Amino acid sequence: MKIAVFSTKSYDQEYFEKYNEKYGYIFSFYETALNADTARLSADCDVVCVFVNDVVNEETIQILASNGVKLIALRCAGYNNVDLEAAEKADIKVVRVPAYSPEAVAEHALALILTLNRKTHKAYNRVREGNFSLKNLIGFNLNNKVIGVIGTGKIGATFCKILKGFGCKILAFDISKNDELIELGVEFLPLEEVLKQADIISLHCPLNKHTKHIVNENSIASMKDGVMIINTSRGALINTAEAIEGLKNRKIGYLGIDVYEQEENLFFEDLSEHIIQDDMILRLLSFPNVLITSHQAYFTKEAMNQITIITLENIKSFENNTELKNVVR
Ligand code: NAD
Repeated sequence: MKIAVFSTKSYDQEYFEKYNEKYGYIFSFYETALNADTARLSADCDVVCVFVNDVVNEETIQILASNGVKLIALRCAGYNNVDLEAAEKADIKVVRVPAYSPEAVAEHALALILTLNRKTHKAYNRVREGNFSLKNLIGFNLNNKVIGVIGTGKIGATFCKILKGFGCKILAFDISKNDELIELGVEFLPLEEVLKQADIISLHCPLNKHTKHIVNENSIASMKDGVMIINTSRGALINTAEAIEGLKNRKIGYLGIDVYEQEENLFFEDLSEHIIQDDMILRLLSFPNVLITSHQAYFTKEAMNQITIITLENIKSFENNTELKNVVR
């Protein structure tokens, strides 16, 4: 099998090479993202392997199909960047890694909360410069705070269990309730109630037409004053321009995001010597109460091992014509 791997970083290559001995696949690693301009690089390949910001739209898929590609293997859980209808029409199967390490993402959401709250990032820099003052470093106890969790699938459920350990009260909204969480004392309520009552809101639902901009001017207005919003799911769950307004008028007290609406032009790259053209992210970076990480929530050794193994197993099932357990329909 020949596999074109797009959006490759050194660590992706390292992990694929580590596990390939068992499979013997031939990889072409490309740093560039897959899109209509780069799809020609898939010539002679059976499979393309893509990540969160590759643009797998109808135009890209048509080029892949004309090159003989038969499988799109996502090395991530979300598939909002793939036109599934176009793939089906082109007779190209799409597989993903539905679960690799929910702990990785849930624990990162917690890291964002604790950093924003206890300001360890500011304390670290201060102390290194000989500034031992505590001014403006005051935080709040998580114990007894109300946490609103939107989406209680694998990551959201793991997040709920972690926050239970901090003595938080957890309110959740999902289109389907999770009985295990109810037994643990998580209360499922309508979305409006969760948004209204929570001190901290954490987003763990997928991006689709129902969830796009779930955090917007109206929903922000319904939240508690000084609310903390955490997004480790997908950038477009938040209307960024409206969140900026919420930060400016102090309705939003803290914003922690690992994902960003226009992240495909920024994240995963070292742009420290470039002039950043995205004014929205620069505005976000100007707030003292905003913390941004560049889609690193998944990035643990355990998750990388699982992502690589499951991706290779998905490709093997396709090659052997056995059941494609992780097919996306
Ligand atoms: P999952 O499929 O296990 O859970 C998603 C949950 O969202 C389900 O319970 C589903 O019922 C619920 N949901 C669907 N539509 C909803 C709606 N309209 N309102 C409320 N809830 C709704 O997925 P998961 O593994 O828990 O992953 C969640 C999301 O996390 C993924 O979609 C992906 O976008 C994101 N993610 C981010 C990273 C990262 O590195 N930042 C890594 C992995 C996944």
